[in-house]
Amino acid sequence: MWRLFRRTSRSPIGRPCRLCGSPAQFGYGQHAEEALEKLEPLCIDCLQRRIGADYGAFKGRAVIVEPAAGPPVYVYQPLPEWKAQFPNSKVAGDVEGLLDRMSSGCEDCGESACFVGVGSLGLTAINFGDVLDQGLAITLLKNSPPPRSVCSRCCVRRIAESLKRAGPSYIEVCSPSGTANGFVMPMGY
Ligand SMILES: [Zn+2]
Ligand SMILES: [Zn+2]
Repeated sequence: MWRLFRRTSRSPIGRPCRLCGSPAQFGYGQHAEEALEKLEPLCIDCLQRRIGADYGAFKGRAVIVEPAAGPPVYVYQPLPEWKAQFPNSKVAGDVEGLLDRMSSGCEDCGESACFVGVGSLGLTAINFGDVLDQGLAITLLKNSPPPRSVCSRCCVRRIAESLKRAGPSYIEVCSPSGTANGFVMPMGY
């Protein structure tokens, strides 16, 4: 109980946005499982600018599951580390399959695609672990529109639209970085 209270009291959500001072709905980190005190409180508009720069600079390819309300974080997981840590998780194989089938051009604007967007219908704070264990093919992809190949700009625009529409807050958001392929998904630790 005490630990929970401490975690909540240090949460970045509700603090002033580090960049503009309006109430923050997100904590922004450099990598998954960043220490709470290092997370930067950001409002939705400042988060959109921040991740816009990150997604544009990313040198790998990634599957991006749409934001959903419920799970506490929305973070990038590089495949090499993920597979080493969770060898029985089926999500890595599904991510590789989706990246192999990615179109060369963005389906929204025609620029070169480096992300595959996947819908999150049915994803909750309860079942995200099942999705990670069982993979995307027999879970989210069964309920969602077909995966969509997109460029970084259209990918971030779609994430921001979804955050504004569905209104989830995340204690931690981190972007794809470096060169390794991976995935971003609403989840918990
Ligand atoms: Zn702000
Ligand atoms: Zn595009």
